[in-house]
Amino acid sequence: MIQKQRGPGGNRGHAHAGRLGARQVYGKISRNGVRLPDDWRNRLPDPTSYYRKRVAKLGKAQVNDWAQGQCPFHEDRNASLSVNLSHGGWTCFAGCDSGDLVSFHMRLAGLSFKEAVRELLGLRS
Ligand SMILES: [Zn+2]
Repeated sequence: MIQKQRGPGGNRGHAHAGRLGARQVYGKISRNGVRLPDDWRNRLPDPTSYYRKRVAKLGKAQVNDWAQGQCPFHEDRNASLSVNLSHGGWTCFAGCDSGDLVSFHMRLAGLSFKEAVRELLGLRS
């Protein structure tokens, strides 16, 4: 004989349900370090020292602080790259692109924008 028990036979005595308390409160400091400091632009390295280390055959600054050197983004024999030693802008006259110091570093190091900024600020672990 099979007894089917259906219906509201419930006597559920579970009383200890929601007790997440004060435990999980800490540990909320921006985990993946994605935030940039508000003043990151002011903390970028000096364009002169930055480019001196990374651009081959970088010449002296000329008009308006632009200096020529070899572009690291293409096979450059002619110093096609022009970088600005004041504001950090760059242009490759062979057609690679142009941009600012951050975009230069992104491209050179293969980083995203935030990664590049963090590395330039020395925040990368
Ligand atoms: Zn180039």
